[in-house]
Amino acid sequence: MNADKKVKILATLGPAINGIDDIRQLVESGVNLFRLNFSHGEHADHAQRYQWVREVEQRLNTPIGILMDLQGPKLRVGPFADGKVNLERGQAFRLDLDSTPGNAQRVSLPHPEIIEALQPGMNLLLDDGRLRLQVTAKHSDAIDTQVIAGGELSDRKGVNVPEAVLQLSPLTEKDRRDLTFGLELGVDWVALSFVQRPEDILEARELIQGKAFIMAKIEKPSAVQQIEAIAQLCDAIMVARGDLGVEVPAENVPRIQKDIIRTCRQLGKPVVVATQMLESMRFSPAPTRAEVTDVANAVAEGSDALMLSAETASGDYPLEAVQMMSKIIRQVESGPDFQAQLDVSRPQAEATASDAISCAIRRISSILPVAALVNYTESGASSLRASRERPKTPILSLTPNLHTARRLTVAWGIYSVVNPRLHEVEEVTSTALDIAQAQGMAQPGDTVVITAGVPFGQPGSTNSLRIETLQ
Ligand code: PGA
Ligand code: MN
Repeated sequence: MNADKKVKILATLGPAINGIDDIRQLVESGVNLFRLNFSHGEHADHAQRYQWVREVEQRLNTPIGILMDLQGPKLRVGPFADGKVNLERGQAFRLDLDSTPGNAQRVSLPHPEIIEALQPGMNLLLDDGRLRLQVTAKHSDAIDTQVIAGGELSDRKGVNVPEAVLQLSPLTEKDRRDLTFGLELGVDWVALSFVQRPEDILEARELIQGKAFIMAKIEKPSAVQQIEAIAQLCDAIMVARGDLGVEVPAENVPRIQKDIIRTCRQLGKPVVVATQMLESMRFSPAPTRAEVTDVANAVAEGSDALMLSAETASGDYPLEAVQMMSKIIRQVESGPDFQAQLDVSRPQAEATASDAISCAIRRISSILPVAALVNYTESGASSLRASRERPKTPILSLTPNLHTARRLTVAWGIYSVVNPRLHEVEEVTSTALDIAQAQGMAQPGDTVVITAGVPFGQPGSTNSLRIETLQ
């Protein structure tokens, strides 16, 4: 078992990764879970990648998570008669529901709900924020705008409307088809793009029916404002800095990232920091100094996992990017005040036995040289509460449930082993010691801390803690 870092790596799969050997190398270099990005590729591609990951999971005998990322309601303008136009600053430009190809005066915006939600004075951002239009007048089937920042605009470029909350379902028709396909495949996690409000999570939960865990991508200002309510309802959060940096001023993203990480840790929900972490490594075997610092800061702030997007999906150096990210993570984690900082910023424990025990194991692992914190868990809930404390020693999560093990791949400091269900309390200690040794986490003479809930199988029942020495 490769438990040499606490912060996890989520790597996106794409054409740059070509088979079982590639995936295996990425896992051996530090990837804990993979993303299938449904904004690109055919179902057959995703199915193939899914099979590769499961094959590597079996060969390495270690759980690997698979996240399907739904495209969500990504808005786009229609096509132009000449493929593109040039918009001059100050000129008027109309967006309407007419499907005729556009020109320098107008283009179609085939989303009545945006036209509905826009008001004079609001801004539209086009092509990842390169162009900005301000609404001057609104009609039933069109809006008139003035160009604030001009430039070339070509067919089907993306549109962001940060100031409006749109009456859109977070799941488009395409998302629903993709979701059915992904759940059938057996993905562990579903990521929802452009979540706007807490109700969006409830809508997705209805459709997912417990077949996968839900990660909300925070990339809209309205989601930032309701982060607490959204995080409460989902199983993990992604700070989706790509679209977020278009929807809010880019200079606000670092503070938002910090706030979201803090909120998620408070609530005990894993949080992933995503996008452009090692962007230059798409074309270069070495990152920029600024990227290294960004990755290091995200680790120091307490993120559970960091994501690689195009770096691994379509870049020239996918393996190098993962190796670099792992090195930075290990370097920060071994720094003198990493644990102290996480300790200082730890959230208040709730008044439950599970939190009291989680708090205790953090203290014990700073007093004794503990080799492993073994937690016996069915749902994974108690391991997540332990992870929230950010203890110095890795958490070895023993579970009879493969679904739980794959879920926990995203969480800080947790490594899982799937083991047949235990029936007697007495079995826990001996099993925990055997597995900690078999996994190379503890040797004879080492101290192992074991936590479990009795009776078994009741989520949140963690109520026992033992300190054992491996014989
Ligand atoms: P995406 O999401 O890569 O699917 O756009 C991440 C982001 O927006 O940062
Ligand atoms: Mn996005």
